[in-house]
Amino acid sequence: MAVPKKKTSKSRRNMRRSHHALPTSAYNECPNCGELKRPHHVCGSCGHYDQREVVQSAPAA
Ligand SMILES: [Zn+2]
Repeated sequence: MAVPKKKTSKSRRNMRRSHHALPTSAYNECPNCGELKRPHHVCGSCGHYDQREVVQSAPAA
């Protein structure tokens, strides 16, 4: 099994992890209800995705 020859320094480890940071919160408007939703996710408030309802949401009175 390959074994690292040198301990990864805090500096190198943190430089590597600098690419792991999540981008600033990405949100889009839902085209159906206008609420903010995450791209490529079903809308949390109306349950729509790709212009159609995919999750049954409670009917708003
Ligand atoms: Zn929506």
